[in-house]
Amino acid sequence: MALIDLSLRQASDLLRKGQVSSVELTEAILQRINDVDSHVHAYLTVMSDLAIDQANKADRQLSEWRANPDNHRPHPLAGIPIAIKDVICVTGAPTTAGSLILEGFVPPYDATVIQRLREAGAVLVGKTNNDEFAMGSTTENSGYGPTRNPWDTQRVPGGSSGGSAAAVAARMSFAALGTDTGGSVRQPAAFCSVVGLKPSYGRVSRFGMIAFASSLDQIGPLGRGVEDVAMLLGTIAGHDPLDSTSIASSVPDYSIELNRPIDLNGVRIGVPKEYFSEGMQYEVDSSVRKAIVELESLGAEIQDVSLPHTDYALPVYHIIAPAEASANLARFDGVRYGMRADASNLWDEYCMTRTAGFGQEVKRRIMLGTYALSAGYYEAFYLRAQKVRTLIKRDFDDVFSRVDIIACPVAPTTAFKLGDKIEDPLEMYLSDVFTLPASLAGVAGISVPCGFDNAGLPIGLQLIAPALGELDLLRLAHAYEKATQWHTHSPNMSLNDKQP
Ligand code: GLN
Repeated sequence: MALIDLSLRQASDLLRKGQVSSVELTEAILQRINDVDSHVHAYLTVMSDLAIDQANKADRQLSEWRANPDNHRPHPLAGIPIAIKDVICVTGAPTTAGSLILEGFVPPYDATVIQRLREAGAVLVGKTNNDEFAMGSTTENSGYGPTRNPWDTQRVPGGSSGGSAAAVAARMSFAALGTDTGGSVRQPAAFCSVVGLKPSYGRVSRFGMIAFASSLDQIGPLGRGVEDVAMLLGTIAGHDPLDSTSIASSVPDYSIELNRPIDLNGVRIGVPKEYFSEGMQYEVDSSVRKAIVELESLGAEIQDVSLPHTDYALPVYHIIAPAEASANLARFDGVRYGMRADASNLWDEYCMTRTAGFGQEVKRRIMLGTYALSAGYYEAFYLRAQKVRTLIKRDFDDVFSRVDIIACPVAPTTAFKLGDKIEDPLEMYLSDVFTLPASLAGVAGISVPCGFDNAGLPIGLQLIAPALGELDLLRLAHAYEKATQWHTHSPNMSLNDKQP
């Protein structure tokens, strides 16, 4: 097996045994990026030299431990190349959030998740492309050009963490970090046939993530299998004094727990009727239903449930998220970070920098959000949206009093063509209908590969658990993955190379 085809778990085992070095793994990944990323554009920055330095350090640490196994055992991620979405600050690495306004910005500090990966000895290979400030569902809103789907380079990889999902799918990284505010880890994972987990709100520190909508944002892992995602989550999760919204509860050892035998008998799975709506692509509907039958055959008990306020999630999200974004993005004014327009006075400098630096979608959201927060409209829009958000959350509380996990699709369709929806924001927003509600409720969700449509494009199954239910989610997803093996398929990049 080629090194790039190893799962993170396999690579980690070989590293410990000394059968492969971190430098070899890192060089294989860098070579792969060199070979295929001109077709995909998953990366905005590749940190080759820094990555090799980190790999050498990990190799030293691993060989010291092999020589003296009584010493502190290296972390399972030691020496493993990982990609990072470009909205997460990494010291010394350009961090643009996909925006021209942050061109040239190099953060002077690490996000907490990065600090934890560094402590584990992971190798940070590069920063991946995303929709500007994570606003989008296709990665087409990046100020640096779109990412393409490795399964068909004419199609979008999903978004906003499209670069992370495409990098993992195309074997340009063993795993990646993304962020999910309304679906941005789960939806690209589904479009690219990788596993993506959105943790419960507060499970992972947001310190050092460039904020989009602070009451919704979460950093989450993407990988080629459930085990890989569990290893990454266990590393980045946990309380952080630098993020007052991070939860103090202890973090289970997801990887160890995952390998205990699991009995699905008696696990109650709810299937919400609102998530199988008209207009959904036929193959998505049938693959997700087949996946639910598979879970039943593994012993789970399936129940029909209802989340009656599902239809309101889209309008509620598109008031709350832009409102928070309009406040968060006020700091980008040319004074402190990134680009600065050449103007004769401060006011013009603000205007010209923001006019030139922000893309169309970001401007649209800043204007919508500012409007929704303005005097006279605040009660009618923002306050009302917050009240409906509570109703959406109560729907989940109610359903979780009767079932353990919810199973449903991640997105209504498979990956569509680049350019298909970019001119029609409402049409684009509709692609998030099944991921927004869990974000608004603050609960945990995972996307696992569950099949392909007739054109060979991946389909994702979404499993949702109550807040802090990540372990149950991972265990169920792992049982499904082992029974079906959809995650072992990989895109044939050489075929894509021949496309015009
Ligand atoms: N696609 C959604 C949006 O455009 C969600 C984005 C995200 O989760 N960051 O807002």
